[in-house]
Amino acid sequence: MTAPTPATPLTTADIREKYLHFFESKGHLRLASHSTIAPDPTTLFTVAGMQPFKTQFMGATAEFEGHSGIHRRVTTAQKCLRVGDIENVGRTLRHCSLLEMLGNFSFGDYFKREAITWAWELLTSPEWLGLDASKLYATIYQDDEEAYEIWTKEIGLPADHILRFGADENFWPADAPKEGPNGPCGPCSEIFYDRGPEYGDDTWAEYADTRESARFLEIWNNVFPQYDRQEPQADGTPTLVDLPFKNIDTGMGLERIATVVQGVYDFYSNDVFAPIIARVAELSGKPYQGPQSVSHRVVAEHVRSVSMVIADGVTLSNTGRGYVIRKILRRASRHAYLLGLREPVLHTLVPLVVEKMGGAYPELVENQARVVAAIRSEEERFLKTLESGTVRLDTLLKGLEQGANIPGDEAFILYDTYGFPLDLTKEIAEEYGISVDEAEYAESLKKAQELARAGSKYGKSELFGAGADQLDDLPPTEFVGYDQLDARGKVLALLAGNEDVEALGTGDEGVLVLNSSPFYAEGGGEVGDTGRLEWVGGEARVKDTTRTKRGVFLHTVQVLRGTLTPETEVRGVVSPERQATERHHTATHLLQAALRSVLGDGVRQAGSLVAPDRLRFDFSHGAAMTPAEVAQTELIVNRWIQADSPVNWQTMPIADARAKGATALFGEKYGDVVRVVSVETGVRVGDQTVTSMELCGGAHVQRTGEIGSFVILSDENVAAGVRRVEALAGEAAVAWIRTQLTGAQRAAGLLNTSPEALAERIQSVQASLKATEKDAVQLRRQITQLQMGGGGSAGGAAPLREIGGFKVAAVTLSGVESGELKGAADSLLEQSGADLVVIATEKGLVVKASKDAVARGAHAGQLVGKLAAAGGGKGGGRPDMAQAGITDPAAAMAALEGAL
Ligand code: ATP
Ligand code: MG
Repeated sequence: MTAPTPATPLTTADIREKYLHFFESKGHLRLASHSTIAPDPTTLFTVAGMQPFKTQFMGATAEFEGHSGIHRRVTTAQKCLRVGDIENVGRTLRHCSLLEMLGNFSFGDYFKREAITWAWELLTSPEWLGLDASKLYATIYQDDEEAYEIWTKEIGLPADHILRFGADENFWPADAPKEGPNGPCGPCSEIFYDRGPEYGDDTWAEYADTRESARFLEIWNNVFPQYDRQEPQADGTPTLVDLPFKNIDTGMGLERIATVVQGVYDFYSNDVFAPIIARVAELSGKPYQGPQSVSHRVVAEHVRSVSMVIADGVTLSNTGRGYVIRKILRRASRHAYLLGLREPVLHTLVPLVVEKMGGAYPELVENQARVVAAIRSEEERFLKTLESGTVRLDTLLKGLEQGANIPGDEAFILYDTYGFPLDLTKEIAEEYGISVDEAEYAESLKKAQELARAGSKYGKSELFGAGADQLDDLPPTEFVGYDQLDARGKVLALLAGNEDVEALGTGDEGVLVLNSSPFYAEGGGEVGDTGRLEWVGGEARVKDTTRTKRGVFLHTVQVLRGTLTPETEVRGVVSPERQATERHHTATHLLQAALRSVLGDGVRQAGSLVAPDRLRFDFSHGAAMTPAEVAQTELIVNRWIQADSPVNWQTMPIADARAKGATALFGEKYGDVVRVVSVETGVRVGDQTVTSMELCGGAHVQRTGEIGSFVILSDENVAAGVRRVEALAGEAAVAWIRTQLTGAQRAAGLLNTSPEALAERIQSVQASLKATEKDAVQLRRQITQLQMGGGGSAGGAAPLREIGGFKVAAVTLSGVESGELKGAADSLLEQSGADLVVIATEKGLVVKASKDAVARGAHAGQLVGKLAAAGGGKGGGRPDMAQAGITDPAAAMAALEGAL
């Protein structure tokens, strides 16, 4: 691994300086690096040296702030952040997240010949970088004969040192001739360095196929934007028109060229990284061992990039750039942990970065203190999360046999919730002689990704679009609200609609995540807390609190005054309603125990709702409760309340909780360490004592006496074998009883009795009402008979008329209900001896025909139709019987003559 090292190897700073100085000597203006924050909104971070010069490439006048005159030649060392393939950093030996790109640019000035010639001179001249020319290789675009001529004829590069590639490799933008976009584009030529057979026994010719080599390292890319791409011809042939204004855009990775010039194994061994790597080795007691030492590299590389971005003014957050660097920093933290480092150490590496880079980037020196503080606090927070994961993992490992497997989904929870990379879990498990089911882990990971993509639900809140990924990276919220209803926390993230936002202003509604919160987040049947937030200069209402699967609390807030931003310290004050919720929650536990005592051990919780104003408890039981059972249950709970038993909670391994006989809630998942809520001092029922012990994460009163009172409102069926009891506790119970009592007293007053005697009184009122109704029906019937002229069943018949060969009895009645008309028609037909009877009232009409008449052709339905039409209505029916609604009985009757 030795290379032709000069007597005193050039440092990275020397190489940077030489590059810039070389191009100054070729008439270039040296400009300072732009920030890592991108100059235009197409990317979050600056990703290439040319990015700050986009307008000049498009033809804008080449003028630069602080430099008079026109400058068509510019050179820079640009700090860039490339985070697209962050997982590769530390694994491949040629990719950094932060890289310095050395570039020389021509805005319509020199072109290909100068660019290639100068690149060659800089690389090979002993005065400059002095590389061995025989180790240099180049790639060109397949049709770029001009470049080929320059390389072979003018530079003298042997033809077998050149490879031709297509537009996917050696054109910018890639594939532009065929795929577009229209506009300036051109071929490029990459320069490679052969690092020698120690790095691989592949050949340059083979690179044409492999395109991947540890031996041939790409160091410099020269782009020649020389065409204006226009719409392709009809047959698809690309249209590339020569640009009158040709540019040069080059980029050489400083880390890569330094590695080559210094002749070291990889850039982690160059003068910038080596001291950081050495420090990591020293701190961890683990020496750097080349390729396999991924963690050393990740730590060193990431500290450097995060320091630079923070120095450029980005703060760690859960949005945009702040989120990206938080992710990078966490990756570094994980790797430090993998190295056995249990204390925050990354921030102690910052001075080494500043020492090496501060000369070229004074912003690092100026902001050093801020950078150290920001990295430190993030590390501390992240380590806390890792610690809770360690407890979980330890408990898990202790419960497993030697040679057993950690279930993949457990390993996944450790990764997803506690930030444990699989490697770390594996490493710790190995110490116990236990391995991880990796296939199952991969399966869980895949499922989680699919779920996230499918828009899974987090508590009540839907997945938050872009924001959701970022929520995934937040630590579970620390809940301090079991005993504090007023506590401070720091804002970690803000969301409005589905998006991450940097601020919520007066009147805005959104979702807020805190590092630590007194607000209970909906779960285990208990509703989320409400309340308010206060901070210096502002105030917000907390309308609800939910949680993600991973335990990140989401506070739905409305800002009443001021502005909320990430990092704000807030005071959270939980609404006093919480006390009412706690009463209902403890009452639910007492209720469950009482139900088991009254109905038997078959009672199992099937669901529950605990709110400030009520509770609902669903349980398995085959039959409706008798009033006696309801009363007995209610009595047990109230006795328990009067006993003022202490309510205790503690966390313990689930096995211990089960051994103690704790009742698990239906459908909930428990970690290894669970919270057990118990009311161990119970009440005596007959010869047994009822006690309560449940796995529960909810909020409870300290003593049962606080519940005050308890009343069961209803017992109903919700599904086969599942009953639902609704009940109230505390003031809600008293208020409900008061309302019921007031209603009963009013009713009793109206009936001249007392509430206790109300039921009997109502029964007797109902009986007398029934008798009265019966009498009324009788009376109406008699009136009908009288009007029909019969004077009762024994009376004579109505006068008959002869119409159309039928004997017709026609009467107009009043005070007869339409339901009684048919009966009247029947008796009239019988009494009168008529063939047809017609009865009209104020609202209706009925016609009935005898069998004999129907046989002779009479049709009640048709007759009703005609009469109703005359009487302002409509109707019809069968030949023997028909009815209609009418408005004018006299007109209907008048139409009778001639209707048959
Ligand atoms: P590679 O193919 O090796 O990933 P690239 O083609 O993406 O590199 P360019 O976009 O052409 O690279 O950038 C110009 C030069 O910048 C490269 O020749 C290389 O020297 C350097 N460079 C690019 N990406 C990185 C990186 N992640 N880390 C270090 N140097 C880089
Ligand atoms: Mg390239």
